[in-house]
Amino acid sequence: MQLATEMTTEVSAIDSAALTPAMRQYFAAKEQHPDCLMFCRIGDFYELFYDDAILVARELQLTLTARDREKKQPMCGVPYHAAEIYIQRLLRKGYRIALCEQMEDPKQAKGVVRREVTKVLTPGTAVDPGLGAEQSNYLASVNVKGSGAAGCVGLALLDLSTGEFRATEFSGAAAWAAAVDEMGRVRPVEVIHAAGMFGAATGVLVPAHRDAAALDGAPDLSRDEEDGDGLDGVRTKTPVEEWVFTAEYALPLLRNHLRLHSLDGLGLAGHETAATAAGALLHYLKKTKQGGLEHVDGLRYYERSGCLELDAVSVRNLELVEPLFSGESVQTTLFYTLDGCCTPMGKRLLRATLLRPANTLAEIEARLEAVGEAAGDLRRREGLRRSMDGVLDLERLLGRVALDSAGPREVMSLAATLKCLPGVAGAVKEFQAARWAELGSRKVSDFRGSDSHVSEARRGAPSATPGVMGFDALDDLHAKIARTIAEEPPVNFSDGGVIRAGVDAELDELRELSRSGRQALVAIEERERQRTGIGSLKVRFNSVFGYYLEVTKANAKAVPAEYERKQTLVNAERFTTPELKEYEAKILTAQERSGEIERRIFAALRADLLAEAGRIRETARRIAEIDLLACFAHLAALRGWVRPQMEDSGVLEFAQARHPVVERRMEESGGGRFVPNSVFLDAEAGPAVLLITGPNMGGKSTYLRQAALLVIMAQCGCFVPAERMRLGLVDRIYTRIGASDNVARGRSTFMVEMTETAAILNTATARSLVLLDEMGRGTATYDGLSLAWATVEHMHNRIGARTLFATHYHELTLLAEQLPRLKNLRVTVKETPTGIVFLHSVEAGPASKSYGIEVAKLAGLPGAVISRAREVLRVHERAESSAVRAEVGQPRQQVQLTMFTPLSQRIVDRVSEVDVDEMTPREALNLLAELQRELKA
Ligand code: ADP
Ligand code: MG
Repeated sequence: MQLATEMTTEVSAIDSAALTPAMRQYFAAKEQHPDCLMFCRIGDFYELFYDDAILVARELQLTLTARDREKKQPMCGVPYHAAEIYIQRLLRKGYRIALCEQMEDPKQAKGVVRREVTKVLTPGTAVDPGLGAEQSNYLASVNVKGSGAAGCVGLALLDLSTGEFRATEFSGAAAWAAAVDEMGRVRPVEVIHAAGMFGAATGVLVPAHRDAAALDGAPDLSRDEEDGDGLDGVRTKTPVEEWVFTAEYALPLLRNHLRLHSLDGLGLAGHETAATAAGALLHYLKKTKQGGLEHVDGLRYYERSGCLELDAVSVRNLELVEPLFSGESVQTTLFYTLDGCCTPMGKRLLRATLLRPANTLAEIEARLEAVGEAAGDLRRREGLRRSMDGVLDLERLLGRVALDSAGPREVMSLAATLKCLPGVAGAVKEFQAARWAELGSRKVSDFRGSDSHVSEARRGAPSATPGVMGFDALDDLHAKIARTIAEEPPVNFSDGGVIRAGVDAELDELRELSRSGRQALVAIEERERQRTGIGSLKVRFNSVFGYYLEVTKANAKAVPAEYERKQTLVNAERFTTPELKEYEAKILTAQERSGEIERRIFAALRADLLAEAGRIRETARRIAEIDLLACFAHLAALRGWVRPQMEDSGVLEFAQARHPVVERRMEESGGGRFVPNSVFLDAEAGPAVLLITGPNMGGKSTYLRQAALLVIMAQCGCFVPAERMRLGLVDRIYTRIGASDNVARGRSTFMVEMTETAAILNTATARSLVLLDEMGRGTATYDGLSLAWATVEHMHNRIGARTLFATHYHELTLLAEQLPRLKNLRVTVKETPTGIVFLHSVEAGPASKSYGIEVAKLAGLPGAVISRAREVLRVHERAESSAVRAEVGQPRQQVQLTMFTPLSQRIVDRVSEVDVDEMTPREALNLLAELQRELKA
């Protein structure tokens, strides 16, 4: 590091006249790509200079050297052949990289080799080979138009590894907040935006758009001074010239790429802001030179409201796809617990489905019906799952073909997958449920325009070959690959033999020629050995000297006169002869020519495959859905889960339900049995609000999350771990955990909690499910209690959403006396002489006390502290009750109900004390004035 600080150099201070030509090239490239780390190819290395070198040396733990004697030009490098690993590591850290390549062969170049930037790699545009099968790598593009109530935010998302491309739009005053929330769920690795949108120096959203973020009518609590744009989770934010984000430029670009006259067929009519974001995204890909984009052949417009809405906070709190704290085991996620998918496409669809469960009865029932049928038949179900055994990542393989990073081996993997497809199609046909028929059929009439993944996908791919309906097993493509590529092709083209014999007559001839040529060389070797009597004489080949005869030094004397010396080594001499030269020429031209032909045929095959990209992607989507339904069926059968009974009502009821993740983890660790619990909520007839009290560690949070997870599972079309479940469709789920920390964003925990609560109170509906866990914990007891109290009242009286409210404030249980649709529940504990035991079962009634001291005792606090705490508590309880009594002179019960308004209580008391009949009008006026004074004070 010492070295680094000394060497840091102001680039602008460098005198360009004094530079070597190579460094001048470097600076020219750097000027064009100032935001990239410049990887400059020099011989067998990529070199980095100046600040780039210092940064990369630190990030990758490389040795920093210097280019010049004065050590003013820091430099570090990575070997060319190993560069990919280093580049991936930098991309994962969020950096952008430009590759500055040698544009001519250094051996042939006169003077300095010409260098140019051939590719820009960024986290969102470079496909990371280490990407997990179930993960996606989204590049996002945001387009902000207008502000305030007239504001509109378009968002486009592309996973280049699979070609999945979609867009959405948000409008109104809360548009930006909604877009940020959407990105919070999708978690893009890179976001591009118009250059003016973020403050240039800081990468912070400029205040002009800030008003667009405020919730309608509510103060903008969602963001405060430090965290700017709300996109803290996104490492790489890339500004793009503003003109790219204009409809005039971006829309034609998008239309041309998708080869469409109008974007309306994609559902983009009237969503110009979203379409512009999508067009700008394509511009960016083309600018960074990402090779063919044939697999990006469709764009789908979607809306948040098209599914059970889960905001980013709930997705996080419920640990749907990622653990709450990064670095924790993924086993805590619902995704992990439910993932029994056989294919990468199925895994990705499961993940996407958990984030977007369905919200229509028809769609949910269609899935449940299909799952039920497969769950009930082991033979057919296993037949279907086994048929998908050899199915590899069809979408990613296609992506690699399009991005031109697929070699012969990848194409063979694609063929191996295609080979499985007829088996899958056959296995699907064994089922009768409507959804199975839709997925497996070849007849278009079977296809109903429901809201299934399939139909969504079809809407997004109008360019797909119109002649093909239903499940397309792609037999023709498989046959084409099998006909063209050798059964076990080499990894590299240079080894030859990629293309099958019989495909091209000239290729076959050339191969024969070089084979006979090589045979002739063997014959020459044998003959020369005999003729010279040198038994160890060999005919050899290397790429620099071509073919030669090699003789050891000891035998050099016996070499005939006509041998021409080619090279002298320490122990051997190498020779050639006119005859050898002739064969060499023949073999080498034959090989060169056949290499060319192989490449040409491979390129044609690649083009043929890409021409059918739409069909391949459509089949991949169907496989994904088949796999997902089969996975749900497998879980239902294996774990004895039941089909939820769906209805259009405000009911949420389940009997003997278990938390799928906790139950599974307990099973796996042998940690005892999960205690099943029941829930009954009815937003219309009540109870609409369940208030759960009881000691810490009693199981309150688990009970809440279990309810949300079961609702999500049911609306995904999955069976549920319960004896029985009845569910009136839920439109949104909100999950809030009190005092959850968000230190990284620099906001106080209480602020986060209140912001989140504000969002619920402002947007929840009577059809929502709301979980509030320990709200109000982040502030002083009475503040927190008061806020919790008012929130419960508001949920109960104004919103009427099904609400589960867990709290350690057992004072809140008194609300049941005022709110008819609120019911108290408590987690049970058994008090034993040695301490309390958690029973984890939930029963009706309020908790009688908080058990804080008992829990602390379990945690191992010293006995002296525990007994002292008990004493202090007794004093406080006594003091509090007598103080309250003294102040208002009322029995404790009533006091508690109104204990939060002691002042108005005093006024009520004063009024009820006086005898109105005995008062003069003047006295009455005086009293009124006095009361008013007190109120104003
Ligand atoms: P609380 O929110 O009341 O403090 P938690 O829900 O966090 O309690 O649960 C505390 C512990 O009890 C967790 O480790 C959880 O695994 C376990 N637990 C919760 N509910 C059950 C249950 N129904 N059966 C078995 N163990 C449970
Ligand atoms: Mg808890």
